[in-house]
Amino acid sequence: MSLNAVAAPLSFTSPIKATLSVAVFSLMLGLVGCNKAETPEQGTETDATADTTAAVGEAAPDSKATTGSDQVVTIYSSRNEQLIKPLLDKYTEETGVKIELVTDKTGPLMARLEAEGKNTPADMLLTVDAGNLWQAAEQGLLQPVASTVLDTNVPAKYRDPKGMWTGLSLRARTIFYDPSKVDAAQLSTYADLADPKWKGKLCLRSSKAVYNQSLVASMMENLGVEKTEQVVRGWVANLATDTFSDDTSMLEAIAAGQCEVGIANSYYYGRLLDEKPGFPVKIFWANQDTTGTHVNISGAGVIANSDNPDGALKLMEWLSSDEAQGIYASSDKEYPVKEGIDESEMLRSWGPFKQDSISVQKFGALQTQAIQMMDKAGYK
Ligand code: FE
Repeated sequence: MSLNAVAAPLSFTSPIKATLSVAVFSLMLGLVGCNKAETPEQGTETDATADTTAAVGEAAPDSKATTGSDQVVTIYSSRNEQLIKPLLDKYTEETGVKIELVTDKTGPLMARLEAEGKNTPADMLLTVDAGNLWQAAEQGLLQPVASTVLDTNVPAKYRDPKGMWTGLSLRARTIFYDPSKVDAAQLSTYADLADPKWKGKLCLRSSKAVYNQSLVASMMENLGVEKTEQVVRGWVANLATDTFSDDTSMLEAIAAGQCEVGIANSYYYGRLLDEKPGFPVKIFWANQDTTGTHVNISGAGVIANSDNPDGALKLMEWLSSDEAQGIYASSDKEYPVKEGIDESEMLRSWGPFKQDSISVQKFGALQTQAIQMMDKAGYK
């Protein structure tokens, strides 16, 4: 297990508290909407483009009124079907429980849950980023669960304290660089990428990506709002080109020599290395001498209006088991959320790193403030 949970020195913890007034909440819904409308990430899990089932108001994919409800779990998933299907097939094979998988982007899935209300066929929401799960809980789309299995398998900082959602896999959002132009010794923190020495050399994904909203939220928690705003302004001043709609094209821009450094999620890099052996970009673990590298989750929650909450919870518990966690680690280039699971060879080759100790639920609580601040700082 390379993810070393180390108590980070949170000495700059700011006193920020996100207060959700109705107005701010409305604004947030609007912004989250535009977040989800972002250009698809080319076959990656946040942006599964094909809605494989009926639209809102049309017939549900497999009505539980006509099948034994406890033998069917319907999942609304924003994860790439290719990645998640082998896991779900394994569950069906072992338990006989049938899975109905509805795949779309997170925003449309949440809108669909709202529109369907009590009539929803969904039992579970499966998505990425604590910011999205937090948002679903805020909108009343999830229900709390109590599970000693999840409490045992998933460290507390990767779960909602009220039991509304749980992390099932981990991903690091860190620094990537062109080793032909940059020496690793020149790199240190996310904040250092705001230094004028990187002028015209930095590539970033759009601020509309929830991944960047969560990263900036974590920096607000670690550095304070003022300092974080300075950093974001510095990033913008250092950009080599317009922001990118996805992490993969940002990494490819580094490989193509368009820029020298950038920030992306670890698994996108892993998938590129798989597809293009010798991909000429290196990974650097950010903030190792300070707060640790930013780590986020993919995760799930039980739908508030589920007809089969027990079935959804059982599946969530299974996804946190050694067997399922091993599959996440081997096939998906993600880090297992459960401790003591072997990682893939590729992940081991990137070496161990200190991760930020912030509880991922903070990302959601600071999301609105992060979005507003990035906007103010001119980060598009
Ligand atoms: Fe992603």
